[in-house]
Amino acid sequence: MIRFNVPPYTGKELEYIKVAVENQKICGDGEFTAKCNKWMEQKTGTTKALLTTSCTHATELAAILADIKPGDEVIMPAYTFVSTADAFVLRGATAVFVDIRPDTMNMDADLIEAAITDKTRAIVPVHYAGVSCDMDKIMEIAEKYNLAVIEDAAQGIMSTYKGKALGTIGDYGCFSFHETKNFSMGEGGALLIRDVDNVENAEIIREKGTNRAKFFRGQIDKYTWVEKGSSYLPSEMNAAYLYAQLELAEEITADRMATWNRYNEAFKELAEAGKVELPFIPEECTHNAHMFYLKCKDLEERTALISFLKENDILAVFHYVPLHTAPAGLKYGRFHGEDKYTTKESERLVRLPLYYGLEPEKTDYIIEKVKEFYK
Ligand SMILES: *Cc1c(COP(=O)(O)O)cnc(C)c1O
Repeated sequence: MIRFNVPPYTGKELEYIKVAVENQKICGDGEFTAKCNKWMEQKTGTTKALLTTSCTHATELAAILADIKPGDEVIMPAYTFVSTADAFVLRGATAVFVDIRPDTMNMDADLIEAAITDKTRAIVPVHYAGVSCDMDKIMEIAEKYNLAVIEDAAQGIMSTYKGKALGTIGDYGCFSFHETKNFSMGEGGALLIRDVDNVENAEIIREKGTNRAKFFRGQIDKYTWVEKGSSYLPSEMNAAYLYAQLELAEEITADRMATWNRYNEAFKELAEAGKVELPFIPEECTHNAHMFYLKCKDLEERTALISFLKENDILAVFHYVPLHTAPAGLKYGRFHGEDKYTTKESERLVRLPLYYGLEPEKTDYIIEKVKEFYK
């Protein structure tokens, strides 16, 4: 069976975990966490990066920092993973979903303004497949209405928009290092903070509401409980695993990109014949080969393709059930305007296996089987 995903492993992870263990420093914010934070800051050019226990937690942290309260509204796409909404709903906010654009599957920035009410506090663009949303337009609206922008860049590490790293454009950016993402630590994520004024609060909330970070930097004599907070810092073992991959970030990305390009080239013919649609990368964006998808004619054809591939030992998957149609989405959210594309496009999309180390022979076999299906 060709798996849909294999967690990234470069070979140095266990060695680094051993170092963490031998350092006798296995809780959070040790040597490896610091290295990962620094790597992200240098790579993205953001002011501050903080490793977290997940992207979900990074988003929760951002929601607390943005002071999201019960009754507030937060605008986001419905075509996304549940965490995008959960982080805000947990603070008592209502998720207001707007439709996506069919070419990138990202939220349609032209629909945001009409969804704004006097309760709106934030916009949450999700950079689907590591391809950026229209950030110029989103930032312009946010500025006009004084809204926070929290980028769900869970899939977006190494991707750019007009030369800027995803996650660094809005007030906050959230990365995921779950095992299904380009770089992993099992479970984990990161919060990127654009403005220096928000860094201290972020450190406090991440560390149980204490000023421990300041204490460790020698800026205060003793640390104490100064605010409401939680525990969003991962252990050094997880950070050590991740650091081995960040060191090889270019290599991992190049490897994924080779597979992505192989698929994209091979399916051009099918696309030109009008049988499938391929991912679209806007000119101002570079992507990170997080995902390769095809769009079938409809749900029925997609179901048939997935079963056909399964019969041929290939695991292809689909996602997401649009949030506004899910039980919790009905309770905690509402869709603004018409669902012209969210449901329809989500039902057509199928993701093909793509992971670091996927052999070209396997990719070619997958390509061959997809083509056979469309014969
Ligand atoms: C993976 C993912 C998340 C959640 O990431 P975790 O690290 O598992 O919390 C959130 N949003 C999107 C768009 C994702 O793809």
